[in-house]
Amino acid sequence: MSSEFLEPVAEGVWKTSVPSKTIPPYHHTHCYWIDTPKGFLLVDTGDGIHTHYLLAAYQELGRPIMLGVIMTHGHRDHVGGASFVCTEWHVPMWMDFKDRKLLDGGLMSLGCWRNIPEQAVGELPGIELIAAPGHTQGQINLFLRASRVLLAGDNLLGNSTSVITPPHGHLRTYLATLDRLYNLGAVLALPAHGDVITDPADYITQYRRHRFERLAQIRSALDSEALSAAEIAQMLYPGPQRMIGERMVMSHLQYLLEDREIRPVEGGERYMRLSS
Ligand SMILES: [Zn+2]
Repeated sequence: MSSEFLEPVAEGVWKTSVPSKTIPPYHHTHCYWIDTPKGFLLVDTGDGIHTHYLLAAYQELGRPIMLGVIMTHGHRDHVGGASFVCTEWHVPMWMDFKDRKLLDGGLMSLGCWRNIPEQAVGELPGIELIAAPGHTQGQINLFLRASRVLLAGDNLLGNSTSVITPPHGHLRTYLATLDRLYNLGAVLALPAHGDVITDPADYITQYRRHRFERLAQIRSALDSEALSAAEIAQMLYPGPQRMIGERMVMSHLQYLLEDREIRPVEGGERYMRLSS
């Protein structure tokens, strides 16, 4: 079964790419359907504008029993379809409530929300729910033990590096999450945006290397002069990426501040390297 709305991507897993307003260069959020012995799980819902994609996919699947919906995290491009699924199926919508603060009032008031640590762990045979913070504090990834497939949310993206920006993103936490994901030994990773990742271990190794290279670039830039995040972003990120680049630089500066490798100067406008 494969169509505009539904694509098989692993044993018992189908993807619906829902057009969504999301992080460039992406234009879709991939939502995944998992067939379990108790019913179907849906992972993520898109931004809520094109929920008919989910409905069409559900019909193509033969209108199965829905066990519930798992939100990988609280960003709008993942939870936007929450009111649709809550109304359509009246099933639990599981999320780590550390991300609840990211929901707008309308979504937060829905009655279907359940906190993952309290109510989902242990109820899903064969599926490991992994606390995978860093992109957001409450990010959850799923690991299908039998097929060794990882549903990586926004922690791994198919055609770019992931976005880690304060205040909800935290680089050190994210790097620890990458280690945890690496150690799972997944054979396939399904990201929320972009292409399927066929060699997750190699991909995660590249991700880690890239972040440490960025840290090294920022250290050496701050060796010779005090610079602001915007000035560093100008050096490291090409034009179209500048805005997001500045926020990415902030998460690296936070990392270096935590290690007391740099200090703020000029009232926090710029940062300077501390001699080691
Ligand atoms: Zn996100």
